[in-house]
Amino acid sequence: MSRLAVYPGSFDPLTRGHLDIIHRTARIFDAVIVAVSNNPTKKHTFSVSERLDMVESSIRDLPNVDVDTFSGLLVDYMRVKKAHVLIRGLRVVSDMDYEFQLASFNRRLYKEVETVFLMPDDQYTYLAASMVKEVARLGAPVDAFVTPYVGRRLKRRFPRK
Ligand code: ADP
Repeated sequence: MSRLAVYPGSFDPLTRGHLDIIHRTARIFDAVIVAVSNNPTKKHTFSVSERLDMVESSIRDLPNVDVDTFSGLLVDYMRVKKAHVLIRGLRVVSDMDYEFQLASFNRRLYKEVETVFLMPDDQYTYLAASMVKEVARLGAPVDAFVTPYVGRRLKRRFPRK
């Protein structure tokens, strides 16, 4: 049986922490879909097509990874895809509260779903997309946190005054 995993998120933008989780997932599962959320009520820095494009540019070397977008309930998307494994990244203990709540909620909505938590490499433990945007806005280098492609996108979004 082929094992499919869905890794959902905002990816606003994709960081090296996200990418670390994608690589780990690709090593464990036969197929992976990185599912970029398209939630019009949530305020994002990058549009859904920009976020999709940034993921796409970073997964070209991973043949079993695809990127897609979804709107509405994630579990509905997973049902359509016949996917039962939901991947989430866990950085620090403070992530757990929210992530456990989300996992329990998703299981109530779709009892066949199994949330699998993966830990990134230590160097990405304190890495968050919001922090990267703050650093970019202040004009500091972001190379350690994102790929060069995403770095260029950030520079364009937050040009030096
Ligand atoms: P969401 O809005 O769904 O939380 P994010 O793009 O912020 O979307 O995160 C998607 C997933 O990636 C979440 O499970 C989050 O905990 C995880 N994640 C975010 N940053 C990192 C990181 N540096 N290392 C590992 N996992 C991360």
